[in-house]
Amino acid sequence: MSAEINVTLVPGDGIGPEVTHEAVLILEAISQWIGSSFQFVEMPIGGTAIRQQGSPLPPATLEAALNSDAVLLGAVGGNEFNSLPPDKRPEAGLLQLRQALGGFANLRPSVAYAPLSNNSPLRPEVTEGADILFVRELLGGLYFGTPRSWNRETGVALNTMQYSREEVIRVARIAFELAQKRRHKLTSVDKANVLEVSQLWRATVTEIAAEYPDVTLEHQYVDACAMHLMNTPRNFDVVLTENLFGDILSDEAAVITGSLGMLPSATIGGKVNLYEPVHGSAPDIAGTGKANPLGAILTGAMLLRHSAGMEQEAQAIESAVQRVLAAGYRTADLARTNQPDQQIVSTVEMGKHVFEVLNEIIDCSQAMHAV
Ligand code: NAD
Repeated sequence: MSAEINVTLVPGDGIGPEVTHEAVLILEAISQWIGSSFQFVEMPIGGTAIRQQGSPLPPATLEAALNSDAVLLGAVGGNEFNSLPPDKRPEAGLLQLRQALGGFANLRPSVAYAPLSNNSPLRPEVTEGADILFVRELLGGLYFGTPRSWNRETGVALNTMQYSREEVIRVARIAFELAQKRRHKLTSVDKANVLEVSQLWRATVTEIAAEYPDVTLEHQYVDACAMHLMNTPRNFDVVLTENLFGDILSDEAAVITGSLGMLPSATIGGKVNLYEPVHGSAPDIAGTGKANPLGAILTGAMLLRHSAGMEQEAQAIESAVQRVLAAGYRTADLARTNQPDQQIVSTVEMGKHVFEVLNEIIDCSQAMHAV
């Protein structure tokens, strides 16, 4: 592990700067604990970059990102840019950044937090204990396959779902390795009863499974998986799937957690890993202090786990978040009218509570090491 971890910080627009600010404070607390240091270089992206430099991804931002150990992003987008052509809008900057970093494995955890069990539309006894990690292939499949077209004269449109063996192997290896570090179970999702691409996917994943005898592999059809995720989410550990299926299933499984503001993500496997909360720039609440910073803070934990090899420290952040929720602290998106013990807090206050509990966890860990 390098003593210095260089992070390009791209807070972006709307609530992006508010939530990444809290994530950075938490990462700085971790760096004091371990004696490493995070070097954050803040760069503009999205609408902020358009305002400052006329481009949603200025060359200096891209260069900094490519030369760092990890990129931590807030969110991009704002109503004032909605009339711009798609390639000039803030979102184009994020798409260009993702493409340049080259990550092909998108990781999306979906965790049922016990104190938030009433926030999910699913019953608490269904979600209790659920902890799923989606590994979605991000650079192939229908979204990128060619030929693609929409012939307005004939009224026929075409997209191509295509995967090579190599594309499946590289994302499968990542998923198996993650399963080895978790509960040793991998569910590979496809539609092999109908699609040749899925038959290749299933055969290749089965072949790669031989390299990971300590991981139990099961295959599910995507339609059945969509149902099992809602009926028996506890039965899943790592879910590996292709681009389109992963896009849909990871959003579906987000209902287990209960709020968009709680969801972290990472995109790994390329030149530099990219970490971003799942939510957007939320212009409706930007500047009001209502943004939930926990998705960004948990994204920071993913950065520690996947770019710095700091599993213990990542878990310390996740425990701190659990304990703050158990103590009843809620940002507005998490608050429920029928919960008398909850205390509604602002973005900064929520960050502060996590910071304090994290420091308690750190003190406790240091005291144990001193014994
Ligand atoms: P959004 O995720 O920004 O907001 C959806 C709803 O969830 C809003 O009501 C918002 O207030 C709420 N919300 C989101 N994050 C929250 C948080 N952390 N705490 C509390 N509430 C939260 O999605 P949208 O409204 O469809 O899009 C707004 C802008 O964000 C658009 O410009 C869109 O293009 C952009 N966007 C960016 C990303 C990204 O940067 N990765 C992702 C999605 C949308």
